[in-house]
Amino acid sequence: MIDVNAHILLIYTGGTIGMVENPATGSLEPFDFAHITKHLPELQRFKFQIDHIVFDPVIDSSDITPEHWKRIVHTIEANYTKYDGFVILHGTDTMAFTASALSFMIENLHKPVVLTGSQLPVGKLRTDAKENLITALEIAADKDSLGNPIVPEVCIFFQNDLLRGNRATKVNADNFNAFKSHNYPSLAKSGIQIRYNRKMIIQPDHEKNTRFHYRLDTRIASLRLFPGIDKQTVEAIMGMRNLKAIILETYGSGNAPLSPWFLDLIREAVKRGVIILNITQCDIGMVNMQLYETGRELLRAGAISGFDATFESAVAKLMFLIGHKYDKEDIKIRMRVPLVGEITRPEDRVNETI
Ligand code: ASP
Repeated sequence: MIDVNAHILLIYTGGTIGMVENPATGSLEPFDFAHITKHLPELQRFKFQIDHIVFDPVIDSSDITPEHWKRIVHTIEANYTKYDGFVILHGTDTMAFTASALSFMIENLHKPVVLTGSQLPVGKLRTDAKENLITALEIAADKDSLGNPIVPEVCIFFQNDLLRGNRATKVNADNFNAFKSHNYPSLAKSGIQIRYNRKMIIQPDHEKNTRFHYRLDTRIASLRLFPGIDKQTVEAIMGMRNLKAIILETYGSGNAPLSPWFLDLIREAVKRGVIILNITQCDIGMVNMQLYETGRELLRAGAISGFDATFESAVAKLMFLIGHKYDKEDIKIRMRVPLVGEITRPEDRVNETI
């Protein structure tokens, strides 16, 4: 039920949603967000109160950095007691990275943080901005019969689906249906009504406060395998000085070549203390390094499993854990279990795998 007394904070960071076409040049330009109601008069029909904060400057989300994530979290922290929920307008390109990062940076979240954006600017006739923003605001203001927010999670709302932020990924550069969560069901579906999948929504520990974290370490790299990958390429990445972790994007259920030079480079990196996180290039399913010899060798070489993590959540979780200065063994333990629903729980993993 929408709480008519709710107070929602809209944080506009940039992206296509807040752009209009310059009639003279035809190019897209950010509009003055203070005039949002000119483009979306429907917003005035909400019974609850919506305030907004605009990032200065607004950015295309390709320019997002961990410093911006900290600014967003800081904005939420500074306004946390004043508002019932937060809607973040963000470019779609890196929205899943931001959602993943926020999910780790805000611990024991009690209120909805809903990210949304659009594929067409708000000033275009066929824009998807209107539906996305209006539904995101409704979700942020929705409460259960006890007056608690229905979705106290960092999530992404796009077209018809509310997705857990750290499970989502941008899959389509053209369609309105731009995001998917391949390994976890939608938290809600919007049609004539918004139908929540309540069993799948994480609830906070109401006895404990929300905590905000700002420490992130970006000393990570990624390596996507392909047949014929050059030894020099692997050497260059595995040999990078000061690196703390490498996300290795492997084939199928976590498989990689058996070539001795390749496995040697992995072993050497592991020996130097680098975490090698194995995630699969497949969208659906999870890493199981026990299945094939090509996975087992990687396991023996010291790689750890990323299970069904998205690339985006693997990046954010490693930055978060390394930033918190956990030692390598601690990080390995924390990578095995979900912190905020970003991977399937060990007890739900079919054939508990490594
Ligand atoms: N390049 C834009 C961005 O991510 C695309 C979008 O907003 O959809 O900021």
